[in-house]
Amino acid sequence: MISERNIKRKREMADRFFPNEMPDFVAETTEETAPEGVGDSLRKLLSLPYPTVAEKFKRTALDLKETIVTNTWGFSRRRLSDFTLYTGALGTAFLLFKAYQVTKNKNDLNLCSEIVKACDSASSGSKYVTFICGRAGVCALGAVIAKHAGDERLLSYYLTQFKEIKLPNDVPNELLYGRAGFLWACSFLNKHIGEGTIPSTRTGPVVNEIIKDGRRLSNKGSCPLMFEWHGKKYWGAAHGLAGIMHVLMGMELKPDEQEDVKGTLRYMIKNRFSSGNYPSSEGSDNDRLVHWCHGAPGVTLTLVKAAEVFGGDEFLKAAEAAGEVIWKRGLLKRVGICHGISGNAYTFLSLYRQTGNVEYLYRARAFACFLLDRANRLISEGKMHGGDRPYSLFEGIGGMAYLFLDMIEPAEARFPAYEL
Ligand SMILES: [Zn+2]
Repeated sequence: MISERNIKRKREMADRFFPNEMPDFVAETTEETAPEGVGDSLRKLLSLPYPTVAEKFKRTALDLKETIVTNTWGFSRRRLSDFTLYTGALGTAFLLFKAYQVTKNKNDLNLCSEIVKACDSASSGSKYVTFICGRAGVCALGAVIAKHAGDERLLSYYLTQFKEIKLPNDVPNELLYGRAGFLWACSFLNKHIGEGTIPSTRTGPVVNEIIKDGRRLSNKGSCPLMFEWHGKKYWGAAHGLAGIMHVLMGMELKPDEQEDVKGTLRYMIKNRFSSGNYPSSEGSDNDRLVHWCHGAPGVTLTLVKAAEVFGGDEFLKAAEAAGEVIWKRGLLKRVGICHGISGNAYTFLSLYRQTGNVEYLYRARAFACFLLDRANRLISEGKMHGGDRPYSLFEGIGGMAYLFLDMIEPAEARFPAYEL
């Protein structure tokens, strides 16, 4: 029997995403223009030769970047109300750094450096310690930009600032505000400045704290690690298991710690919904969210990472199964990377990188082309939500612009501030 509650839930669920009516696969043509009668503009974008569509992504991304800079920096008169990467000015700086990596335009690097400087002042008293929502993101990006600009003095300034960050005793473990988000910033520095920039003598004790807390809250016998944020045992990338496991896999772990990470992922796979989606928190039976922050997309990126780190096919198979849910229910009525189409497109890019299967590249391209073709119109018609912070990296068109830049070299794409 279908209860009234279930009907309401089904309706709510359908309200969250557009039905995906795009073909499961379209081979690209070698023709610059699709033959007459092939159909609508989206269908045409799906079959264009890749270099042609990549050029469209690039042009649109660079136009969007200008709009984003004007609205998040130009109008603010450089007084920042929000310095964070998630919804604030550091997100614009991160997009400019990406644009610089694509075009090598020094103006982007200089403007990025100027914005990070303003973020540095705005975040100096912040109690938050992570890459995405805290001071670590400002100091880490500042150091990497200084390195690219060849400014040794500035590089050493930001590294010193980074090393002065202290984690409060009551800091949570999750990615947006907790230990995992601080460790991610350490990995970002080690990748871009050089191995050992932040040594394991600094990261090791933080890893130990996470493992200790995780084991303390584990439900003995079934899931080796469990965490709480604001009283809830979240599973997703932003506040829960997926995000914490993702970061731990990038750290030096002892064999028993590795086994606990694997066991935690196996527990999640075993207890996913019958639809293939993942609950947003422990014990939840509400199969609604297909977001990076909550649900299958964030978990998919973590499972791809597990396949890369541990090998074998159990984690890859689970990642591919989660990818099917995202293809069906991931064409969300929002643009951003946290809980929008752009973020969900990254899961296919990640699967493509790991498997080399061009069907995943097609799926990423389909989600990105849907945005390229329709996002503007759907937002202005009120059929799609432009985000509470419409120009931001995580909730707004900043994330879409970042995705379009990543679509130029899809094999090199990485979910911003999450994949390295
Ligand atoms: Zn979200």
